[in-house]
Amino acid sequence: MNKTVSFGDVLLVPQYSEIFSRKEVDLSCKITDGVTVKIPIVSSPMDTVTGSDMAIAMSQAGGLGILHRYNTPSEQQKMAIEALKKGKYVAAAIGVTGDYVERSALLIKAGVQILCLDIAHGHHALMRHALSVLRNTFGNSVHLMAGNVATLDGFNDLSDWGADSIRVGIGGGSICSTRIQTGHGVPTLQSIIDCSFSDRDALLIADGGIKNSGDITKALAAGADLAMVGSLLAGTDQSPGEVISRNGEKFKAYRGMASKEAQIEWRGHFASIEGVSSAVPCRGDVTSVLKELETGIRSGLSYTGAKNISELQSKSKFIEQTQAGQTESSTHINGQK
Ligand code: IMP
Repeated sequence: MNKTVSFGDVLLVPQYSEIFSRKEVDLSCKITDGVTVKIPIVSSPMDTVTGSDMAIAMSQAGGLGILHRYNTPSEQQKMAIEALKKGKYVAAAIGVTGDYVERSALLIKAGVQILCLDIAHGHHALMRHALSVLRNTFGNSVHLMAGNVATLDGFNDLSDWGADSIRVGIGGGSICSTRIQTGHGVPTLQSIIDCSFSDRDALLIADGGIKNSGDITKALAAGADLAMVGSLLAGTDQSPGEVISRNGEKFKAYRGMASKEAQIEWRGHFASIEGVSSAVPCRGDVTSVLKELETGIRSGLSYTGAKNISELQSKSKFIEQTQAGQTESSTHINGQK
């Protein structure tokens, strides 16, 4: 059986550096014509993460927001129009069955530059069909993001079927119960490493289980061009949802889109439950959360002595750490985590 690694199993080895200021580090990534992000962070298309407010904040901070698709096509189009008032660009999620062509047409009309074909198991005949329909209908001007996949075969197939960028990671999300429910998945870092061997041009988006800027740096070093995050942005002023007050503390819901609660709300019934619903503490403006993540990633590149993401990928050296190493790596004063 193949051995796999997760984010916590590895560290990047510090190397000689000539980076004198974090400002010298270039984190930009061109996604498509007119959309170059300054920070390689993408917000998940989830109904507790990305509505128009988050998409605007992501664009203003230099990242990318993907509007969730849990609404009618015209409601999502309205979100996109709102997001493009104040924001420079926006992406939006669609499905691969039902209203996805009509939805795409409305989104493109609103000025959306990137469509994200957002399904749990992206290495699938329905994905192949939808990518072909969308390319034939809308041509090459729209960027198609697709996923999720966990393997190199999946990555290459989606690229060959027409995807311009591919979300990599199955079962690793903080609110995900796919591995428990189905027994399937691959640790996200391992999937990134495997997919990084692809000779296709599609961008690789690490997705699921990213807990901090250190994990983002590891994902980029392993071959990702961008990192998609959900829980890291949940509970902020810009994430959709009501503030819940409990014992004097404030929370917002953060839930998997395949959780029972989300399925009942959006479909009226539930099938396979592959996510959970939870509440996370309110954390204020997402802009400061993003700034902190950006600072951590810039510092991360400086430790490898890399001026940009491609230098990080060519120079970085991973080592595996033991259980004792993992304990030492987390803050451990008085046994505190
Ligand atoms: P996080 O950043 O670890 O919180 O993971 C967010 C990612 O989890 C999303 O970008 C999706 O790929 C994935 N996801 C969202 N909802 C579900 C679900 O209900 N089950 C499994 N994965 C999910």
